[in-house]
Amino acid sequence: MSIRDAKVIGVSACLLGARCKYSGGSNRNERVLRFCGGKRVIPVCPEVMGGLPTPRIPSEIAGGTVMNRAGENVDDAFRRGARAALDELLKGGAELVILQPRSPSCGLRQIYDGSFSGRLIPGAGVFAALAQEAGLRCLEPEDLPDL
Ligand code: SF4
Repeated sequence: MSIRDAKVIGVSACLLGARCKYSGGSNRNERVLRFCGGKRVIPVCPEVMGGLPTPRIPSEIAGGTVMNRAGENVDDAFRRGARAALDELLKGGAELVILQPRSPSCGLRQIYDGSFSGRLIPGAGVFAALAQEAGLRCLEPEDLPDL
């Protein structure tokens, strides 16, 4: 199936303009919005679905465990939210998922290295990894055709 033919799409909610980012802002992306026009969209924010507040302390994955910058272990909330988001996409029949880059939940190809120093490493966030394991086709905004 070509990307353009997908009719049901899961999307990181912040890309659609939802203010669910850790800072309280969004990652609204016009390319994503144009691509989603006329399609059924299922917005998900795994961190909010895991019960975390907005705004919240930023988190990174360190040695496989999600920790926030205050040194608190938030791994359970991230994994619970990722599972809930995946269930929603599977239930809704999502054919592909568009994910916000570099997030400890939604990042697909790169994530921060866990030191809170801005260094990126190859890897996926908790939700992106789960969605790929479940066989969902995952993309970043730059992979979309520029309509
Ligand atoms: S968890 Fe995903 S959807 Fe939620 S704010 Fe972070 S990148 Fe966006």
